[in-house]
Amino acid sequence: MDLYGALDLDASATAADIERAYLRLARRYHPRINPGDRLAEERFRQVSQAYEVLGNAERRREYDRSRIVNHPATVEATIAFEGFDFSSLAQGHEAATFSEMFSDVFQDAARRVTSPERGSALELTMPLSFEDAMRGGHFPVSVVRQERCPGCAGAGRVSIAPVTCPACRGAGATRWARGHMVFTKPCDPCGSTGRLTFQVCRVCAGSGVQARSEVVTLVIPPGIDDAARMAVPGRGHAGARGGPMGDLYVTIEVSPHPVFSRDGRDLRMVLPVAVHEAALGAKVDVPTLTGPVKVKVPPGTGSGSKLRVRGQGIPSAHSADPALAGDLIVEVQIVLPPVRDERSKELLREFGALNPADVRAHLFGAQS
Ligand SMILES: [Zn+2]
Ligand SMILES: [Zn+2]
Repeated sequence: MDLYGALDLDASATAADIERAYLRLARRYHPRINPGDRLAEERFRQVSQAYEVLGNAERRREYDRSRIVNHPATVEATIAFEGFDFSSLAQGHEAATFSEMFSDVFQDAARRVTSPERGSALELTMPLSFEDAMRGGHFPVSVVRQERCPGCAGAGRVSIAPVTCPACRGAGATRWARGHMVFTKPCDPCGSTGRLTFQVCRVCAGSGVQARSEVVTLVIPPGIDDAARMAVPGRGHAGARGGPMGDLYVTIEVSPHPVFSRDGRDLRMVLPVAVHEAALGAKVDVPTLTGPVKVKVPPGTGSGSKLRVRGQGIPSAHSADPALAGDLIVEVQIVLPPVRDERSKELLREFGALNPADVRAHLFGAQS
């Protein structure tokens, strides 16, 4: 067996290619996804063993060397379960006993049959409007999770009246010969008893789980950050063969706001203020998360000045007390209202004449 071929790759594959190919193929041929499918099971074993060598830089170099000189390496021989050539092994540089070579195969088989396994995690992304993220609250989210199968209560199999095991014809073990050597392997399907007292569950085809959509209500704390990740224990996929449930992970995606931006617990915004309001002082309406509030712009406020509106920032995640909330920081931006009529122009000329100071003098201060 060519290890690269087993992963649908060639020898130029990068470590990342190998990783990806392994994850993709291991998922496709996993025995739990293909219960009772001998071909998938064999393919899964080849994929796993190819990855064991190619996924390890040192073992991969060794394999590449042996491949170039066309010398069948020990690792390759152990993988080719069928068509195994003992003469090449005898010449191999790494001697191994038969039990060592096959031990992992048998252990895999034993693990598959008996062990309950923790359910895998369920990941999802939840978009939230800026306002919802600031307010927090209860948000329903629809998830499709693998639940324990109702047909077999997650066992993957159901009891039946005992029958003779068709795999070993009641012998409890399978035997095969290779040359003049005879091998014996305990029978998996009947656990070496020769009799079957259960059959694969028809509802879930032996996986013990079944896809079901469900609504989970998330409790979002006020002021949650963009990209925050929430864990909901026990709401992921069901475990195989009665194993515990995995966890649900939700990544929050907060959409940006057209007016406000976040700065820790504070909110920031730019507030346009007309020239006469800035010069003479004014009370102006400023938007907040809870509606407009009046803010006093002091006389002579310059562009870029910052006004702090206490308690109108991001609410505390733990308390509704506005004293614990952040502040709203308003940056003043002076704007000139359109001047179209003669009277306004006349007033501005007069204003200029009354205030002849050069507002750009400081730019040239160093030269004069
Ligand atoms: Zn079932
Ligand atoms: Zn059997």
